[in-house]
Amino acid sequence: MSLLTFKQGIHPDYNKNLTSDKPFKKAARPEMLTILMQQHIGAPCKPLVKKGDHVDLGQKIADSDSFVSAPIHASASGSVKEIKKVLTADGRQCDAVVIEPDDEDWLAEGIVPYGALEDLSPESIRKIVRDAGIVGMGGAMFPTHVKLTIPEGKKAEYLVLNGAECEPYLTVDHRMMLERPDAVVYGMKALMKAIGARKGIIAIDDNKPDAVKVMEESVLSEEGIEVKVMETKYPQGGEKMLIKAVLDREVPMGGLPIDIGVVVNNISTAVAVADAITKGMPLVERTVTVTGRGVREPLNLICPIGISVRDLIAEAGGLTDDAVKVIMGGPMTGFAQPSLDSYVVKGTSGILVLTEEELDLNPPRPCIRCARCVDVCPQFLLPLNLARYAEHGMLEEMERYRILNCIECGSCSYICPANRPLMQYIKLGKAEVMANRRNQ
Ligand code: SF4
Ligand code: SF4
Repeated sequence: MSLLTFKQGIHPDYNKNLTSDKPFKKAARPEMLTILMQQHIGAPCKPLVKKGDHVDLGQKIADSDSFVSAPIHASASGSVKEIKKVLTADGRQCDAVVIEPDDEDWLAEGIVPYGALEDLSPESIRKIVRDAGIVGMGGAMFPTHVKLTIPEGKKAEYLVLNGAECEPYLTVDHRMMLERPDAVVYGMKALMKAIGARKGIIAIDDNKPDAVKVMEESVLSEEGIEVKVMETKYPQGGEKMLIKAVLDREVPMGGLPIDIGVVVNNISTAVAVADAITKGMPLVERTVTVTGRGVREPLNLICPIGISVRDLIAEAGGLTDDAVKVIMGGPMTGFAQPSLDSYVVKGTSGILVLTEEELDLNPPRPCIRCARCVDVCPQFLLPLNLARYAEHGMLEEMERYRILNCIECGSCSYICPANRPLMQYIKLGKAEVMANRRNQ
């Protein structure tokens, strides 16, 4: 029987065996936490605390009036040492609240369970999700309460929980399904209630048979929820690819999943929602895969938001002698870091350290027009042309060839035998097109 999937895509080396059998371990308390004010798509938050303040674990320390934003909470009790400028993983500058944790772990006032899910209305679930500062934890960091607010005239038929985890190396969602299946299902039911969806699908790639088994057993008695198994292919976890695979529906060009009655959420996001409702706990910690042949002991860590990459690498036994590149996220969509002074945010699912041997350090060569980039693009674009238009600032051509439909999956760059940085050019082109549209 053929497995569910989408057209095109790639089959990279997944390298998940480095950590897929490593149970979550709790990171040691770091000496300092640096909590960024930009941890979501949308308006950055403004600090509500100042140098010298004492904060409790889970206390709200930053917020914004904007709807598309999410508040930020202290991930430890301790004292605010300073508020300073830092760089985000993708190189933008933002404010950060630096907290020196104490060893008390005083819990903030008001952190109590919200009661039974049956007694909560869709509005109250959305409010709990907003107040807990929950954003998409698969990397997109879109505020979850916004996703759960269905626009007038639209109806959510399906909630699809994304268990594909198609990025090579990363295994946090895989481990989450194995270690906290009940929280996954609870969070999923809460998300379904919030959007009024009757049907739920947990979509998992077939390279996680143990997670498929556990989740199938966990939903046996749940009405309207089923598990679907997909072919392991990249970028299977992209929303459009996921929906095509499990529902055979296509998101219209320039549209959103809700246009075809679907809302997609990530596995770890569902667990964060479960914790917010059952414990009253805002999003102050997350699980991170620290992996690659450039660290001595790859592992899956539970760590506070704001911990540094330096601390995480120390937890993984330190760098190997041949480590050369540190990436925040996975190898396909992550960001190379200029130093180890970068900090975990709500969307950080992995820290990947590569060795010289694993990197292709050859410079880009001229395009040989082999069309391999075209053959793999899941959005049916012409990456070789788009990259050339972006390189030369050709706005009209970029628009005509639908550059904004690029989902920045990196499949084209991966497959290119001439080592051309296609996605990198296309990303810059997209930013230029968006800026031009705003100016007009
Ligand atoms: S894969 Fe690379 S070499 Fe081949 S057509 Fe695309 S850009 Fe050119
Ligand atoms: S053009 Fe965009 S969507 Fe297509 S393969 Fe490249 S990065 Fe992915």
